Amino acid sequence: MAVEYCLFHPQGGGQPADRGWVDGREIVPARDHDAGLVVARSAGDLPLPDFTVGQSVEVRIDLAARRTYAALHTAGHLIEAAGRAQGWTHAANTHFPGQARIEFTAARPTHASTPRRAGRKRPRRCGRTSPRPSRKTRP
Ligand SMILES: [Zn+2]
Repeated sequence: MAVEYCLFHPQGGGQPADRGWVDGREIVPARDHDAGLVVARSAGDLPLPDFTVGQSVEVRIDLAARRTYAALHTAGHLIEAAGRAQGWTHAANTHFPGQARIEFTAARPTHASTPRRAGRKRPRRCGRTSPRPSRKTRP
C-alpha cells in the first residue's frame, strides 16, 4: 500500500529503511520501481489488511531513528566533501547507525607536485635505512 503524503524513507542511498506504522501495523517502506512510489509493506509475517483508494489511515514514524539516519547521512556528505577537497577519491560509504563510514582512496604523492626549496634537505623516504649521499657542489 502507499499513502498520499509519504513520511517514510526506504532503504537506499546508504541509509536504512525507516520504521513506521500504518493503522498500528508495523511496516517497512520500500521503493516500488515500477510504480515510482515508496510503498509500505508488512514488517511481520501477516500481510497488511486490504485498504481502499482514498481510505484515511493513521501513519506514524520512528522519528528518533529518522533523525539519527538523517544526521548520519548529512555528516557523511560533509566528510565526503572534506575528503574530496584533500584530493581523495570517494570509494564507498554507509550511513547505518553503528557502522557509518566514508571510505576514500588517497592519491599517491608525486615528486613533481612537491615543491622543494634549494639547499633544503630531501626528506627521507620510508624504508630507507642509510642516509642518501649528499651532492657535491662547486664553490
Ligand atoms: Zn546522500
